[in-house]
Amino acid sequence: MASTSRTRTQSSGRARRGVPAARHTRHPKPAARAKHPKGAASVGKPRVPMPRLAEPMWALTLDVEKDRWDKSRGFRKIQVARPRLDPKNPLDASAVILKVKYTGFCGSDAGIWFRTSFKAMIHDSLKAEGKTTRVIGHEVLGEVAEIGPVARAHYGLKEGDLCAAESHIVCGRCHQCLIGQRHVCTDERIIGISRDGGFAEYVKLPATVLWRTDPKKIRLEVAAIQEPFGNAVHASTAVDLRGKSVAMFGCGAIGQFTIMIAKALGASKIIGIDPNPVNAELAKKLGADEVVKFDIHDDKRNGWKAYPEIVERVVKFSGIDGVDVAMEMAGYNSSVNNAIQSVRRGGDVVLFGLKSGDFMIQDFQRVIVKGINIQSVIGRRLFETWEITKNLLESRENGIQDRIWNVMLNKGKDTIVDIADFVPEEFEKKIGTHPKLIIRW
Ligand SMILES: [Zn+2]
Ligand SMILES: [Zn+2]
Repeated sequence: MASTSRTRTQSSGRARRGVPAARHTRHPKPAARAKHPKGAASVGKPRVPMPRLAEPMWALTLDVEKDRWDKSRGFRKIQVARPRLDPKNPLDASAVILKVKYTGFCGSDAGIWFRTSFKAMIHDSLKAEGKTTRVIGHEVLGEVAEIGPVARAHYGLKEGDLCAAESHIVCGRCHQCLIGQRHVCTDERIIGISRDGGFAEYVKLPATVLWRTDPKKIRLEVAAIQEPFGNAVHASTAVDLRGKSVAMFGCGAIGQFTIMIAKALGASKIIGIDPNPVNAELAKKLGADEVVKFDIHDDKRNGWKAYPEIVERVVKFSGIDGVDVAMEMAGYNSSVNNAIQSVRRGGDVVLFGLKSGDFMIQDFQRVIVKGINIQSVIGRRLFETWEITKNLLESRENGIQDRIWNVMLNKGKDTIVDIADFVPEEFEKKIGTHPKLIIRW
């Protein structure tokens, strides 16, 4: 799904103040789990007795009844029933059960954690399913553990296949699906938001979304983030970057991926812009030629406007009247205006950052008079984006895979959390300090 750079909300979001996270405790190490075969939840004292689960598994969840949207934050680590293929359900014939190995934690997940986005999608879909608990998580990597007969016969899947998953489950029947625009399907479901997801030991998925991955070519921890990397591939292929100067407004995880991809696709020079010094530093390490750190203007009336000092720096960097391409990856009104103001006559603005509500365009006539092209990007193109993702990550010459592991994921130090060690308060601290976190199952 489209992830949101949380550069600023991570450190100053409204939802973080004063409200304790839902209570969680560590669950026993795997050896001791057998003592709780009936699915004893790890959450404080449940108000209602937990149902007895025949086949419990650990999962990170949101319970919309217990965790009121405006009065809580965080995810509950509880045991839920392990999904199984139902021979009586015709849809399960073309589904698989993945045994999850790693699940990436994305800006969208942070939006759910801090209750700033996806409220309606989660609540409405749970209501339709007649339940209150949603398993979160959509950046999944796992091994095929169970296969429906159609998935086996038609998709050639077998037990043990390593697969990542496209997080948008598209309908295949709507107008957009039929004309090859499946990334904007009008009847899509999103894993971990509008159906149960991959922050769990097992997840049920239709075979149509699985993307086989070769563990000999892509290390597992990197393979787990092909889905968000694909967002960056989609953004980087929305316009031709060859020989172009590029400004990256917002250098969170997707901005960082995009810097590496833009370079690999032939961008001539890149300037990264981010108020978070950690992100700015990483942008430089990952290949930005110049970075701009800045202080957020504390101006309630004019906070939506472009920041003149940033526009000036970017235009100067371009050497002409602005950069060829401005990528907006942060989702702030001021950032959108920065992007529009920083691009040259006839240049391209790619919009990826996401925020609900109304935005204002400063000096709107500039867009028309200067012939600026604005292009928005959502999700990944199925499956062209995945194919490019695979090739960019498998090719060792561009150094992308190594930089993701060594720099963005810090070789796994503090960025990969075993579910047995998941403590919400500690995890929340990491959300603000690392561009990408991964949960190991
Ligand atoms: Zn994501
Ligand atoms: Zn569709």
